[in-house]
Amino acid sequence: MTLCDLCESQLGRPGHVPPHPRLVMSATLRTASGHNAFVYRCGDCGQTLLLASHDGDTPDRWTRLDADGWN
Ligand SMILES: [Zn+2]
Repeated sequence: MTLCDLCESQLGRPGHVPPHPRLVMSATLRTASGHNAFVYRCGDCGQTLLLASHDGDTPDRWTRLDADGWN
């Protein structure tokens, strides 16, 4: 599956950047480090994006749910 342009530009942005208009929050997860991670699904391309901090200390960031580093 391919990311739409909106999702493409969302990836890698810091967490203070708001979700693009086609993203809908679908779940809140608890990471292994005990922090919240927010799962958003795109109504355009169907991809799932994650708004989370990788280790709880670094600032939140937009990533793909299946990005490297998430198990
Ligand atoms: Zn998209």
